[in-house]
Amino acid sequence: MRTIQHWVGGRATAGDSTRTGPVFDPATGKQQAEVLLAEASDVDAAVSAARRAFETWSQVSLSHRASILFAFRHLMHERAGELAEVVTEEHGKVRSDALGEVQRGLEVVEYACGIPTLLKGEYTDQVSTDVDSFSFRSPLGVVAGITPFNFPAMVPAWMYPIAIACGNTFVLKPSERDPSLSTMVAEMWAEAGLPDGVFNVVNGDKVAVDALLDHPDVEALSFVGSTPIARYIHERGSANRKRVQALGGAKNHAIVLADADLDYVSDHLAAAAFGSAGERCMAISATVAVGSAGDRLLEVLDDRARAVTVGPGLDPSSQMGPVITAAARDRILGLIDRGEEQGAEVTVDGRGLTVPGHEQGFFVGPTVIDQVTTDMDVYTHEIFGPVLSVLRADTVDDAIDLINANPYGNGTAVFTRDGGAARRFMRGVQVGMIGINVPVPVPMAFHSFGGWKDSLFGDLHIHGPEGVAFYSRNKVVTSRWPEPNEEQAASLDMPTAT
Ligand code: NAD
Repeated sequence: MRTIQHWVGGRATAGDSTRTGPVFDPATGKQQAEVLLAEASDVDAAVSAARRAFETWSQVSLSHRASILFAFRHLMHERAGELAEVVTEEHGKVRSDALGEVQRGLEVVEYACGIPTLLKGEYTDQVSTDVDSFSFRSPLGVVAGITPFNFPAMVPAWMYPIAIACGNTFVLKPSERDPSLSTMVAEMWAEAGLPDGVFNVVNGDKVAVDALLDHPDVEALSFVGSTPIARYIHERGSANRKRVQALGGAKNHAIVLADADLDYVSDHLAAAAFGSAGERCMAISATVAVGSAGDRLLEVLDDRARAVTVGPGLDPSSQMGPVITAAARDRILGLIDRGEEQGAEVTVDGRGLTVPGHEQGFFVGPTVIDQVTTDMDVYTHEIFGPVLSVLRADTVDDAIDLINANPYGNGTAVFTRDGGAARRFMRGVQVGMIGINVPVPVPMAFHSFGGWKDSLFGDLHIHGPEGVAFYSRNKVVTSRWPEPNEEQAASLDMPTAT
């Protein structure tokens, strides 16, 4: 059985780890590898390597840093197909979707290649007589990233390119469910010429995460994962005086107005709900049909859901793969059962789906549940599977109120031809990322990504300008160069401009 190791100080290592976790092929249900689970001493070794590397990396010129980023970008671009294949093998999503994920990660690397421009400071001449003022941004030190299973390529890439470009050194704790890709990333960094110790990987579980949260030499933590863990990371990391951004779970609503083109809407809703088997933090999991839109929408939507081809991710004819583990599958099936028990109507049923030749795979078919109300478990839980709930609202304002009553605020979308209604929606919803006739409004790398309410703990969103702000801190200098014989009378009063 293949064993996936850590990457510390520029090489693969087992460190002190003896515990392991299984890595499955979700399409067959078979274990394909084991991953080492780090002890606190392994985390300490990685942080120490990163601490040492920071001394020199933080002093490397911006243009040299940019040249290493360009080399890394070239390797990632060249190996996109290989990276996508590893994502599919361990996560299960179809290969074309995995390629899309790699591409979205690559775009953050490309953004970070512009670091000399992104880190430009500000200068004000003559703020007082013969006094100038300027500001510039410094790196933080060792920063850590803790990432979820659902985007093993993209989510870590939301963090490390910008962190490293800003002059920090990085320790990644990827998901233990699909960890192989992170080792490939470490190897590409080494090949691109990044000095040893600047990028490290510790594989593991809560033991590794807690060691990062408590380590005195970790200056900042970026987390992406479920809301209960995000809340915990934010509280414990902040109590330890670290800078923390912790992105959590989601329940993303799309509202559909009666004037929308229901063919277009159904196509895009099905793609947004069932793409990646619903295991996206920006997946649409609740549709709110406004006014008379409901019954007509459901007819077309059900057809689209039934037409999705489910199969192993490496089969090019598959549009949707399995979910990540048997436990995830059973949890999703249980929630569909609960929905039915609580009075909802399952109009397309993905339970009991078997894929010929892959009977042991972790498959759930696309599922549509109508007549869902906000008190039902299918609505109050983040299902994180290929399940789309349909709710009804009388007016756009009722739909906005429904969304705002939900504790999450990651993404949302409106489908309409009415610009005024779309504007009211956009301004009224308490949600961080909004699509207008765009169901999965994931911001590009040069904007920042982040939700509101229980979908993000901390102040700054991830990547884009807020990513640069997160991974650097500002210094403001006020400077004066008096002439040798200049009168320098000082006053005990608060300094003011003269
Ligand atoms: P998860 O919270 O179970 O795990 C995320 C990370 O936390 C992993 O590295 C895991 O090892 C670690 N972890 C798990 N339990 C822990 C514990 N008790 N203590 C300390 N660390 C722990 O999430 P997941 O199942 O891997 O990913 C799916 C979740 O991530 C969904 O809720 C999804 O919405 C969310 N997500 C959010 C975003 C976003 O941008 N907001 C993006 C992707 C995924």
